[in-house]
Amino acid sequence: MIRKQEDNYRHKGLRQKLTDLIKEKGISDENVLAAINSIPRHFFLSPEMERYAYEDRALNIGEGQTISQPYTVAFQSQLLQVQPGHKILEIGTGSMYQATVLAELKANVYTIERQKSLFANTKFFPLKGKYPSIKFFYGDGFEGLPTFAPFDRVIITAGAPEIPMKLVEQMKINGIMVIPVDEGEGQRMLRITKMENGDLNEEAFDMFSFVPMLKGVEKGKL
Ligand code: SAH
Repeated sequence: MIRKQEDNYRHKGLRQKLTDLIKEKGISDENVLAAINSIPRHFFLSPEMERYAYEDRALNIGEGQTISQPYTVAFQSQLLQVQPGHKILEIGTGSMYQATVLAELKANVYTIERQKSLFANTKFFPLKGKYPSIKFFYGDGFEGLPTFAPFDRVIITAGAPEIPMKLVEQMKINGIMVIPVDEGEGQRMLRITKMENGDLNEEAFDMFSFVPMLKGVEKGKL
């Protein structure tokens, strides 16, 4: 699925408008806004979906999965308080867009996907040359990546049934996890901070709508 794609003035103009909209909706972190403004979101979509790339909405990426709404990506990225050099674990690679936003914030990203065909697409990541720091894994995000732990930050981009304790164990002290947790009608965005004594500090934010975080891996049609 390698396609020659260009990022022209029209794309850049639409992206600036999208960035302004997200700012109006309340995102204030200038680094996050700059990342949204610089990454060509249309590179992460199929030809049929490309034309909607700069609308503030989630879009289908196949396998019943979605690329998150740009506002949601910005909201989670802002809550994560990324510093250059941070080691970040992402659960739910999907389109690779959120991982790229984190890489643009100069983090080292370790991202896991449970859908085989979406993971297979990561081989064709269009911006590999620009963001060599992103590492892609196929597996069950509930397990995390114990070999690479501990992480400064953990971001879950699917609706979780609860806070996965295995992932909490893989966080550094003072580490932060941003996770949407199911509350019946949608998910509550939570920010969990691992305190010096190991206790968890929990802050609750708005409600969002994510595809579910599911156990195990999906092999799909091979
Ligand atoms: N971050 C993505 C959002 C994709 S939607 C993006 O920027 O496009 C959420 C993704 O999480 C889906 O691709 C889904 O397959 C994946 N997912 C759900 N449960 C998972 C799990 N337990 N481990 C890894 N990935 C999971």
